Amino acid sequence: MRTILLIAASAAVLTAAQTPTSTSIDEETLRHFQALVRMDTADPPGNEQPAAEYLKQVLEAEGIAVEVLALEPKRPNVVARLKGSGKKRPILIMGHTDVVNVDPKKWTHPPFAATRDGGYIYGRGTVDDKDNLVAGLMVMLMLKRQNVPLDRDVIFLAEAGEEGSTRIGIQYITAQHFSKIDAEYCLAEGGSVSRTGGQVRYASIQTLEKIPRAIELTARGISGHGSVPLQSNAVVHLAAAVAKIGAWKPQIRLNETTRAYFKRLASVSTPEEAKRYLDVIGADAAAAAADDYFLAREPRHASMLRTSISPTIIQGGYRINVIPSEAKASLDVRTHPDEDLEAFLAAMKQVIADPAVEVAWVARDVRPPAAPARLDSDAFKAIEANVTKHYKTVTLPTMSTGATDMAYLRAKGLLCFGVGPLIDTEDGPKGFGAHSDQERIVETELYRFVRFHYDIVADLARAR
Ligand SMILES: [Zn+2]
Repeated sequence: MRTILLIAASAAVLTAAQTPTSTSIDEETLRHFQALVRMDTADPPGNEQPAAEYLKQVLEAEGIAVEVLALEPKRPNVVARLKGSGKKRPILIMGHTDVVNVDPKKWTHPPFAATRDGGYIYGRGTVDDKDNLVAGLMVMLMLKRQNVPLDRDVIFLAEAGEEGSTRIGIQYITAQHFSKIDAEYCLAEGGSVSRTGGQVRYASIQTLEKIPRAIELTARGISGHGSVPLQSNAVVHLAAAVAKIGAWKPQIRLNETTRAYFKRLASVSTPEEAKRYLDVIGADAAAAAADDYFLAREPRHASMLRTSISPTIIQGGYRINVIPSEAKASLDVRTHPDEDLEAFLAAMKQVIADPAVEVAWVARDVRPPAAPARLDSDAFKAIEANVTKHYKTVTLPTMSTGATDMAYLRAKGLLCFGVGPLIDTEDGPKGFGAHSDQERIVETELYRFVRFHYDIVADLARAR
């Protein structure tokens, strides 16, 4: 596995020009990072305006033209562009300016102070997503300052509202200003480098995400007095149907991303773990045993293998002595991006096998389905080469089970990749992860991430 990766890596590494590595870059990164973390952009209500103004002023001071695009005045998005020769299509680099809310009582260091302590920088947004935001900003500044000749435009988008109001952020930009961000490739949040016990284990690069959808089960029967049990009782039929869905294991289906993910994960796992990761992409019987293990112990992996279903809401009945004529269950369904929706519904109906239960797709705030970012693309090769160069570890292409802003861009045809800084896997459980009670980043990892990010963009955009 590693040999293959190194071969893939060598071409891009050898052609990479010098990376700016001076400490002045780190100091400048810190200055912008602290300034942006110190702005309270908690969403709701958002109020990304100060962050947008800061970015605009820093970019313009460097001579980079900036456009501010806002559906709501206090929630602007920022777009900036470095022009290339047009030989290749643009690359978009993206970070969101809003952060999730905080409970200040739970913070040792204040959430919007960007305090440096013990090798960390503390604050809301330090790993979600002011790290990507500042990396994108620094890449623009460095490319411009060095006057790097480009084969393609480099576009920077600082979007508002990612944490729950995409209407004023990515949805608004893709619907009304798409030509300003249209690109071949996109880099945004959604990846990270994992370190456990001080050892770098792998870099996870998001290339694909599942699509959130919904199915509703409606059981219908005869209503009546609770003192006389009826075989047609809608509650009984619904409960039986939900139980069957709970026990159902929809067919395992792999794609380029998940096959590569398990294969590469095996290469950095214990022999026992590795066997399961290889079994699951192999013959049916062995795959089923590994799948059973994942269902019990590694549920995220089980979800990555299939279109998954979680029953989440049950409704039925209104008083103790009335058998209701109707009962409903809502199922949170996360489909493979290329799932055949009609065939999947037909399979579910067969599992339920009850004419009294109607099974139907229902509307949901659906993120659009789209093709995966291809692993044979120049972008993935450049990312992989720079993972090797900066982190000396394996790259795992990853299909996330949840959904991100990149879904809107993938639906428009961009090949999108989720990247992020190194994170200690122990830090999340300690309560310092994204969306946790507190949040922090290893300071030196912020600087390494900026260099990693710069090299990827430079490798893809620099004139050849
Ligand atoms: Zn985020």
